[in-house]
Amino acid sequence: MVKIFYDKDANSEVLKSKTIAVIGYGSQGAGQAQNLHDSGLDVIVGVRKGGESWTQAKNDGLTVMTMADAAKKGDLIQMLVPDEIQGAIYTSEIAPNLSKGKTLCFSHGFNIHYNQIVPPKDVNVIMVAPKGPGFLVRRTYTEGIGVPALLAIYQDATGNARDIGMAYAKGIGATRAGVLETTFKEETETDLFGEQVDLCGGVTCLMKASFETLVAAGYKPEIAYFETFHEMKLIVDLIHEGGLSKMWYYVSNTAEYGGLTVGPKIINEQSKQAMKEALRRIQNGEFAKEFVLESKANRPVLNALERMENEHQVEKVGKELRAMMPWLKKD
Ligand code: NDP
Ligand code: MG
Repeated sequence: MVKIFYDKDANSEVLKSKTIAVIGYGSQGAGQAQNLHDSGLDVIVGVRKGGESWTQAKNDGLTVMTMADAAKKGDLIQMLVPDEIQGAIYTSEIAPNLSKGKTLCFSHGFNIHYNQIVPPKDVNVIMVAPKGPGFLVRRTYTEGIGVPALLAIYQDATGNARDIGMAYAKGIGATRAGVLETTFKEETETDLFGEQVDLCGGVTCLMKASFETLVAAGYKPEIAYFETFHEMKLIVDLIHEGGLSKMWYYVSNTAEYGGLTVGPKIINEQSKQAMKEALRRIQNGEFAKEFVLESKANRPVLNALERMENEHQVEKVGKELRAMMPWLKKD
């Protein structure tokens, strides 16, 4: 069983007289910066002038400056701009202001693991990655619970990089929920695998394919939507709360028998082979290279796929049906 670390395992003293520069104030940046601030730590926010984040962070009562100024003042620099622009921002704003003994921190290992950012040897390189979106990092903190996080140490220049990481995790409230130790390699590769194969890619394609199958067979799109999209949340919530056994317990016996016998015919050996191939492309860097080049080329494929996804029939049907259900939360 993997060891989990809590509040008592973290020593906030290592960050007491230090300044934390949070670079970026989006999903993670806003959540983490506000939590650190409310934990009594010295936080500054580095964002571009004239952007939405500048106004937002100011309105939230935080000290705001340019990324370069924040990197210069910060002892710990937390990189929370989108992964595909971190390399360029590191080169122009952060690297010139990094000096010996500072700590460079991430919430995802992509740029370090795939060498998009190569920090000097005399700085700490760590990761504190909350396992939840920024709004949840913030909301759970205000509720006194916190979101679990992963901690990884890539480079320990000062000899206390791990203590710094644990203190940071405590500052964002993660040690209340629990912190698990990992490596940049493991976090990056499993994160990419999860979002491609299972969470974002796998589940949406499963839902669309079953919706399309019903509609092509002549069933009403509205009925197909309820069955293949709407009910997904009910099932996932049960698994989230009590594992597979709770879900199988709550669904009908018919659903349990049909699900257990037919499911493996849908996600089968062929699907597993495709998963292995996706993992291979993550491990050998092919996916990373493709994504970095896609971003450099101004996202031609991503923009086209986004547009096609928005134009899918299920989006139109879903929108109409969701309007009938005003109780659905808009988070
Ligand atoms: P966001 O997309 O929410 O970041 C938005 C921030 O980046 C804003 O402050 C925005 O400023 C700034 N920004 C965007 N583009 C530029 C640009 N071209 N130049 C300068 N600033 C720019 O990022 P996330 O919070 O989603 O992700 C941050 C990190 O956290 C990533 O490493 C990600 O992998 C990781 N992570 C994210 C999770 C999530 O739930 N989103 C979960 C766990 C980890 P402006 O307002 O000026 O545009
Ligand atoms: Mg993830």
